[in-house]
Amino acid sequence: MAGELLALAGGVGGAKLVWGLSQVLPPEQLVVVVNTADDEEFHGLQVSPDLDTVMYTLAGLANPETGWGITGDTTTVLSALERLGAPAWFKLGDRDLATHIRRTELLRKGGTLSAVTAELCRALGVKQRIVPMTDNRVRTSLLTDQGVMAFQEYFVKHRCQPRVRDIMYEGADWASPSPAFEQALQEARAVVYCPSNPFLSLDPILEVLGVRRRLQQFSGPRIAVSPIVGGEAVKGPAAKLFKELGQEPSALAVARRMVGLCSVFVLDTVDQSLAQEVDALGMRAVVADTMMNTPEDKVRLAKQVCGLASPDA
Ligand code: GDP
Repeated sequence: MAGELLALAGGVGGAKLVWGLSQVLPPEQLVVVVNTADDEEFHGLQVSPDLDTVMYTLAGLANPETGWGITGDTTTVLSALERLGAPAWFKLGDRDLATHIRRTELLRKGGTLSAVTAELCRALGVKQRIVPMTDNRVRTSLLTDQGVMAFQEYFVKHRCQPRVRDIMYEGADWASPSPAFEQALQEARAVVYCPSNPFLSLDPILEVLGVRRRLQQFSGPRIAVSPIVGGEAVKGPAAKLFKELGQEPSALAVARRMVGLCSVFVLDTVDQSLAQEVDALGMRAVVADTMMNTPEDKVRLAKQVCGLASPDA
């Protein structure tokens, strides 16, 4: 198969499918565009949680138990910082901190987030292109029953407990796609929407100036994998957010949000009964086992997705 596959991803769910794709495709055929609206500064350092989850996953360093950070990492520095009075609710391991120190230093020297991410990937031996959605500053904030919160405050400090009334992506209107994202939008043969949080990971990417329209007009196959399985999120607050924003969580509700953006919608076998309604939205519903618990699961789903992305599918 010639040409690149453009995968859009957030953190954990996205990284699982991206890992599968990395086992199936030659590295030069995979471009992963990652949400950066969760980025935040901690202890003076620039942290990009979703970029790092994808990068660590492809580098074979990811911690499968937490879903973030580096496996086997220690927290000596964080404990010392806490003793000095610094807030320590955002858990940063010692080796993970090295990534943020290096990122921050390279950014301060004038590098773009794209260039810095490419440098970090090169150093960690990641051959696939992992690309921030934009080199501009976009930040998710949430209007909750406890006031407006920055994303990490809501997600980590308050463990997604506050009720969400609205979600804002500050800066998205002015942000342009990163150069490699721009190029992939023009040249990729297919787009894959990974099973990532629709509100907190995929929407920020879609809200970057012009991206939604470009994806609506994209002429190749566009495949989405549902992050909602049996009416529940596999992990994280996606289902809770659907309810709080006034919709019943289901694969169908995810598909409704993808009208005009995807041509094929992959829903889990447990949601088979929704396939007809998904078809009626003007996309092809494909039923598959989308639960990625083992490496074999990830590779199997990635192979199916690549099959759907091929021109004769
Ligand atoms: P986060 O930034 O860590 O929350 O990660 P993501 O934005 O990538 O999304 C988490 C989403 O991925 C959740 O809505 C999960 O339901 C979904 N997810 C996680 N693992 C799986 C899986 O194995 N299969 C499917 N279909 N969805 C998954």
